[in-house]
Amino acid sequence: MNYLSTRGDKTPRKFCEILLEGLAPDGGLYLPEHYPQVSAATLSAWRRLPYADLAFEVLSLYIDDIPAADLKAICQKTYTQEVFGTREIVPVRQLEAGLYLQALSNGPTLAFKDMAMQLLGNLFEYELARRGEELNILGATSGDTGSAAEYAMRGKKGVRVFMTSPNGRMSPFQQAQMFSLMDENIHNIAVDGVFDDCQDIVKAVSNDLDFKRQYKIGTVNSINWARLMAQVVYYFAGYFQASASNAEEVSFTVPSGNFGNVCAGHVARMMGLPIAQLVVATNENDVLDEFFRTGVYRVRSSRDTHETSSPSMDISKASNFERFVFDLTGRDGAQTKALFHDQLNATGRFDLSASSAFQSAAKIYGFVSGKSTHADRLATIKSVYKQTGSMIDTHTADGVKVAREHLQPGTPMVVLETALPIKFAETIEEALGQLPPRPARFEGIEALPKRVRVMPPDAALIKRYIVENVH
Ligand SMILES: *Cc1c(COP(=O)(O)O)cnc(C)c1O
Repeated sequence: MNYLSTRGDKTPRKFCEILLEGLAPDGGLYLPEHYPQVSAATLSAWRRLPYADLAFEVLSLYIDDIPAADLKAICQKTYTQEVFGTREIVPVRQLEAGLYLQALSNGPTLAFKDMAMQLLGNLFEYELARRGEELNILGATSGDTGSAAEYAMRGKKGVRVFMTSPNGRMSPFQQAQMFSLMDENIHNIAVDGVFDDCQDIVKAVSNDLDFKRQYKIGTVNSINWARLMAQVVYYFAGYFQASASNAEEVSFTVPSGNFGNVCAGHVARMMGLPIAQLVVATNENDVLDEFFRTGVYRVRSSRDTHETSSPSMDISKASNFERFVFDLTGRDGAQTKALFHDQLNATGRFDLSASSAFQSAAKIYGFVSGKSTHADRLATIKSVYKQTGSMIDTHTADGVKVAREHLQPGTPMVVLETALPIKFAETIEEALGQLPPRPARFEGIEALPKRVRVMPPDAALIKRYIVENVH
């Protein structure tokens, strides 16, 4: 399998060449040259597989530059009951008639990002050892991404993590999760500023190409193809649990921000997985809902980006969306570049409402969408608790709210559970008047010693800190 860029660069690249990279050199995102097709016979065979074996089968279709035995060992080491809490890894449970929840949040940091990041940690360690190289990951986080990256990379040979976060602005639970890590290769940098300041620092350091090259600076953000590919696997696992045979269709609702998670659903559907609808659920930051309703993609300014109670979906633009638009335009790199480079830079928007591809997006690609507000989240958390006695997190609540609006008789609807409620305890208490349960391994983490360096929002100082800690 070779990879190409959504902006027209067709230089054939292998998986391990793009594994450690972010954007393609022309500014586009990497995608496989084609989507491998999964036959009915293969689907039937996969239905019985344990999760790690299923992951190996799916990944094998996209990776042909790691020997099969090694890739299998990486999958076996990654997807264990010990790390993900259950034998099924991603168990599906019923919420109400026709509506199911797929648990993706029982990994080390209690959010679905562990599903991909844990694999990425093992792939990075493997590939860096093979090349005899090192990588220094520099990131910015307001919560889930940073902790998932740190728990995936802790103790890994050849990798260091320098993670900036806005000082004092993450929840006490999230701070404790990250700052209690004592691993020598994990560096927490609390920046006196807001999340945008952290992102600006990462950009400034990455734009210094000499520094970037000399100190082997890399990222693990959601545009990384390997993360998306890892997420494709759980759509298959969810489908098998919600259906009895390949003759049945299943729909998925996905709480969405940067369009990474639901883009993996799109890839699974393009491979031939019988998915009826892919329902994109947004919060008040409804860039994606607006597009699927109107055909207009309009990036928000930071002033127009709302701070909500489902903060991991508070985005101003959806950084993976370009991958879907590339497919929507019939994989036309020139048109994708015109939309995302020329038009977005010039006007902050583009309009596909007149295109026949957009008009049949629901029919051809299964995409529909909806939006949820703070009041919806509270009401949904309450109703699910009343019906089932179980608590759901705020992002998952956005998903359940929108899923209920798109139920089709006879087609099971699976909502992806993207985090556990304990991560967003304040809003759960607001909805239910009580705190969510805390998994035993997180008892008392707020009291643990913390390893964090507080620094001013100054890229030069952060660079010096990196230099001093790379040895
Ligand atoms: C990251 C995240 C999302 C959004 O996922 P995307 O892949 O960016 O669409 C939703 N919910 C939670 C809890 C997250 O951490």
